[in-house]
Amino acid sequence: MPRPIQARINLSALENNLRVARRAAPSARIMAVIKAGGYGHGLSRVAEALSAADGFALLDIQDAVRLREAGFRQTILLLEGAFNAEDMTIIAQYDLACVIHSAWQIALLDGCPGREKLDVWLKVNSGMNRLGFVPQQAAQAMEQLRRQRAVRGITLMTHFANADEARGIAGPLALFNDFAAPYRITRSLANSAALLRYPETHGDWVRPGIMLYGASPFAEVSAQQLGLQPAMTLRSRIIAVQELHAGDEIGYGALFRAEHAMRVGIVACGYADGYPRHAPNGTPVLVDGQVTQTLGRVSMDMLYADLSKLPQAGVGSTVTLWGEGLPIEDVARAAGTVSYELMCALTARVPVVV
Ligand SMILES: *Cc1c(COP(=O)(O)O)cnc(C)c1O
Repeated sequence: MPRPIQARINLSALENNLRVARRAAPSARIMAVIKAGGYGHGLSRVAEALSAADGFALLDIQDAVRLREAGFRQTILLLEGAFNAEDMTIIAQYDLACVIHSAWQIALLDGCPGREKLDVWLKVNSGMNRLGFVPQQAAQAMEQLRRQRAVRGITLMTHFANADEARGIAGPLALFNDFAAPYRITRSLANSAALLRYPETHGDWVRPGIMLYGASPFAEVSAQQLGLQPAMTLRSRIIAVQELHAGDEIGYGALFRAEHAMRVGIVACGYADGYPRHAPNGTPVLVDGQVTQTLGRVSMDMLYADLSKLPQAGVGSTVTLWGEGLPIEDVARAAGTVSYELMCALTARVPVVV
């Protein structure tokens, strides 16, 4: 028997979630965000499943080229744009689109051969203060881009810091709209949270990421309530059982101590598989489809599951770490992180099945 851990990627869940995005933003084109290897689900697998999307957004230029060479004809946007002059040449050659977020990237356009080759997305910093030009500088950047011979089309974009929070998007949206008002060009603002909650942000292109993978962007609304299906299910099995006596401790650091006799299952999944080491006692886990909890410290290759209420469970029992039957958001919340990080953290040693 091979080590029993595996991640199952549900392609029809990806397709379903894309339809949910379309229904929520029927007038916009959909730029499926597939950075970080499709949020850990596998880049080409995800691109295939989401091939009905109007575009793909990612970071790595080699990945973008690979998609082009695999025959994807959609817009392919580089979210951090070019890193050097050679990138610009490849962008033009493969008809990629690139974000322009800083003045140094505009300078790279000077060396770009050819006329009207490049579609650029000018990033406006509407308050997140990560990438982009503040409105006062964006007007000048816009003029510089319009004078560049290599530029074919310009899209205005921004990214919200609080679309999933109570703070919302009103301030940044007003800032962006004030800046964009004089320009009759395409716009892109919305991530998953804005797409689902703020139709006024839809513009010409929406940029959903997390929702396509079947996780909710909101703390207080579940993926199921949004009609989303989990695309990744991480499963393993119990490979050993320990019968504890009152006072026995488990794991590194003895973070759990049994108050009475109980059974714990040893699960073949640890932080080297991508399970969060910081998941505390009580993080939810399914054993044979029943909700129970982790106990003790997660180690590199194993973790502990509480079997005290599951007398039938034992060696060979199926364990779901997240996915179908156990929302990844619930595991993330217990571990003090977000579903995004758990998905991306899945490591190369975990076999993936579809
Ligand atoms: C990652 C990213 C998105 C997608 O965000 P989600 O919250 O996953 O929907 C959209 N736009 C930009 C610029 C991003 O970096």
